[in-house]
Amino acid sequence: MQQTLILLKPDAVQRRLVGEITGRFERKGLRLAGLKLVQAPRALAEQHYAVHKGKPFYDSLLAFLTSGPTVAMVWEGREAVAVCRTLMGLTDGAKAPPGTIRGDLALSVQNNLVHGSDSPENAALEVALWFPEGLV
Ligand code: ATP
Ligand code: MG
Repeated sequence: MQQTLILLKPDAVQRRLVGEITGRFERKGLRLAGLKLVQAPRALAEQHYAVHKGKPFYDSLLAFLTSGPTVAMVWEGREAVAVCRTLMGLTDGAKAPPGTIRGDLALSVQNNLVHGSDSPENAALEVALWFPEGLV
C-alpha cells in the first residue's frame, strides 16, 4: 500500500489546528502508520527542503520549519501521495480552493500548515528521514 509523509508545520500546532487537519486525513479513509511531535533541528529541515536551497525563500522557510514543534505523520492507502496533495490544496493558501486544508485554513504561501510528499519515491525518502527508527 502506498505511503506518504505528512507534516503539520509549526503554524498548525501553534494555531491549534492539529485535530482539524488530522481528522480530514482520517475521514478520507487513509490509515495512520506513524505519528510524533518533533522539534526539527536545523539539519533535518535543511535535508527535508534541500530541493529549495538557493531560492529566495529558503532561509525564511528553514526558520519557519524550526520555529516550533511539527507533527510528523505517515499515512497509507490507495494513491496516498496524490490523495493527500488533493486534500491539502495548492501551495499558496490564497489560491487554494475552498474545501482543501490550505484553502479553508491558510492565507499565506509560506505558512501553509501542511507538507505532503510529492511522489512515492520522495515519500520513501522522507519517511526514512523523519522516522529513522522505523514505523510500528
Ligand atoms: P510542501 O513541499 O511543503 O508540501 P508544496 O509542495 O506545495 O509544499 P513547494 O514548492 O515544495 O510547495 O514549497 C515548499 C514550501 O516552501 C511550501 O509549502 C511553502 O511553505 C514554502 N514556499 C513555497 N513557495 C514559497 C514562496 N514563494 N514564498 C515563501 N515560501 C514559499
Ligand atoms: Mg513540495
